Amino acid sequence: MVPFRQFLLKIHSRCNLACDYCYVYEGADQSWRGRPRRMELETVRRTAGRIAEHAAEHGLDEVSVVLHGGEPLLVGADHLGELLGVLSGELGGESGGLRVRFDLQTNGLRLLDEPALLDVLHRYRVAVGVSLDGTRAGHDRHRRLPSGAGSWARTAEAVRLLGSDRHRELFAGLLCVVDLAADPVDTYEALLEFAPPRLDLLLPHGTWAAPPPGLRRRPVPGGPPSGAEPAPYGEWLIAAFDRWYGAPRRETGVRLFEELAVLLLGGRASSEAVGLAPVDLVVVETDGAIEQADSLKAAYDGAPGTGLDVWRHGFADAAAHPGFRARQRGLAGLGAVCGGCPLARVCGGGLYAHRWAGEAGGAGGGFGYPSVYCADLDRLIRHVAGRLREGVAGLGLPLRGAGGGGGFREAGGGAAPSCR
Ligand code: SF4
Repeated sequence: MVPFRQFLLKIHSRCNLACDYCYVYEGADQSWRGRPRRMELETVRRTAGRIAEHAAEHGLDEVSVVLHGGEPLLVGADHLGELLGVLSGELGGESGGLRVRFDLQTNGLRLLDEPALLDVLHRYRVAVGVSLDGTRAGHDRHRRLPSGAGSWARTAEAVRLLGSDRHRELFAGLLCVVDLAADPVDTYEALLEFAPPRLDLLLPHGTWAAPPPGLRRRPVPGGPPSGAEPAPYGEWLIAAFDRWYGAPRRETGVRLFEELAVLLLGGRASSEAVGLAPVDLVVVETDGAIEQADSLKAAYDGAPGTGLDVWRHGFADAAAHPGFRARQRGLAGLGAVCGGCPLARVCGGGLYAHRWAGEAGGAGGGFGYPSVYCADLDRLIRHVAGRLREGVAGLGLPLRGAGGGGGFREAGGGAAPSCR
């Protein structure tokens, strides 16, 4: 059994923005409607006890606790301080003995309205990531206030506050959702203006049954991509990659690109978006329900659910759940097409949720299909491999699947899965 190391706690289930692509409120799964608004301390304490129990069972000395929502800062400074106090007390220090890393993902707006939140975040050394979609126009196209007005100006103000000398140590990075309507280089450079320690470029959630923006609904492919398929997201990411990789000095980290590089060089990725690392993240909702990753909300109503909760179940029960097991089996957990793809070890079939075929998959659909971004991932990975190959050719390093002994099939060539 692969232990969980990342515990994502939904500490508030509502939001103060109304983004049109939000997978929580606009996705197929609408379970938020029946949840309490915030995670009460009793639930936090019970969850902390379950985390400690799980860590002891597996001999873990470090765990990551991610505070998430909705908008997690809507809990307010007092409740945030109390719940972090409970988590720290139960898990860390002399009683718990665990090293705990706290992360929080926010839209940033509450940092402006309630400065006391920053004091709490400093007190518990919480690493804060902010969602910002690049330029003002790109951000405001999707990330709006309930009034319909754009939220860029206030988000930018919050990010500047977080990046100021006084608070910089809290600033973990920016998270940006890819939008085909935005120019990739303009987007990257707009994010760079905030001097983020790291960027995360996320593909918008979509499935074969409900394709992402700009991709028409198509039949699930019967084999790995030929290289001839349209790949607009791949091309977008390639333009951003080239801008990032071609900079004369390192400007910031871009998680997706760095993870692809690590995978191509034979290492392991730490995200679910690419690679075959077993899933080690589990979600606890405001009412204590134990769920799978939020991205599954894009598939169908109830998709992240497990029927488990921290009141009656330990995380060992969750680890044995078929939904988690399916994402801990590496190559064996992929469907036939990905299993026969020479990029499988690097791509990993993309994010699990993006493989959902629903009725389009026939025979009940399911997750045993390539990513709806298959052609895009194929295009991007081959491009990154090519650029890395140029860079490391003189060093004689093995480049997984990049030719010259790596077993990487050339674009458009037949499947020769010797890289596995
Ligand atoms: S999703 Fe990835 S691993 Fe699967 S066939 Fe497409 S490129 Fe290959």
